[in-house]
Amino acid sequence: MRIDQWRCVACGNCLAVCPVGAIHIDPGVGRAVINEDACVECYNCFRGMSKEHLFPPMVRAIRRVAKAFRFRFDPEPDICPTDAIVPTELGWPRVVRRAFSDPVVEHAATGIHGRGTEEVKTNDVTHRVGEGETGFVVEFGRPGVGVRFHEIQRMTRALAELGVEFEKKNPVTSMMSDPKRGEIREDVLNEKILSAIVEFKTTLERVPELLGRIEEVAEGLSTVVALGVSTRCDSAGQSRLPDLLAGEGYTAFRGKTNLGLGRTPPAGSVDPRGGSAS
Ligand code: SF4
Ligand code: SF4
Repeated sequence: MRIDQWRCVACGNCLAVCPVGAIHIDPGVGRAVINEDACVECYNCFRGMSKEHLFPPMVRAIRRVAKAFRFRFDPEPDICPTDAIVPTELGWPRVVRRAFSDPVVEHAATGIHGRGTEEVKTNDVTHRVGEGETGFVVEFGRPGVGVRFHEIQRMTRALAELGVEFEKKNPVTSMMSDPKRGEIREDVLNEKILSAIVEFKTTLERVPELLGRIEEVAEGLSTVVALGVSTRCDSAGQSRLPDLLAGEGYTAFRGKTNLGLGRTPPAGSVDPRGGSAS
């Protein structure tokens, strides 16, 4: 993304809509400028503001006169008055930023839609997390902080050392050059994105060990890390997972519960009477 320096009248409206604070007014030139390194190509500034097509020299002149008479000539706060925000063509690897940061873009870079898979939301149909198993989603970056792939790699390497197998249908996994070692492609390591989700599953018994390792690595990262765990309940709607979490000092509550109302599973698959919870 860039700001057309001729069109911009430095009203400052776009500063508030950038989720990572990548836009500032350069007092030297009196224009808004995007810090290219910090920008995650989320398109919020371009799409999230209405556009007017006022003639920039005229707006600047009115603003100068207004300032001299100690009143202000400002557009409504959700408007770029001169349509100065311009998308740029993104090549590789920068296009990865948009794929992980713009919620409406198709994942052309990764071949997968969205930031993660369906997690536990469709588990009653997909049976990705079976009885006795726990699905983990480790989310990096939100709100408003962003994350670079080299930070995500510190976590994926640590998890791979513990023998974790990453979910194949996941955008971060699609960025890995060696999923067995948690290695992410070198050419995207410095790319900054708004957020990403690493997914894997394990047995219930390994929950304490993995929680401990995730906490350890997260403490050394300069971004926000959020964790979700899910499991398949038994036919009485119960699971050992809350007790395991409580044993590690977490207060567990049910974030999402699937009631087993999805498609009837094929014969021989997991008991359909058990719902899933995270
Ligand atoms: S909203 Fe438009 S005119 Fe105002 S500072 Fe941003 S780019 Fe410049
Ligand atoms: S594209 Fe997103 S991150 Fe980049 S300047 Fe615009 S709002 Fe900020």
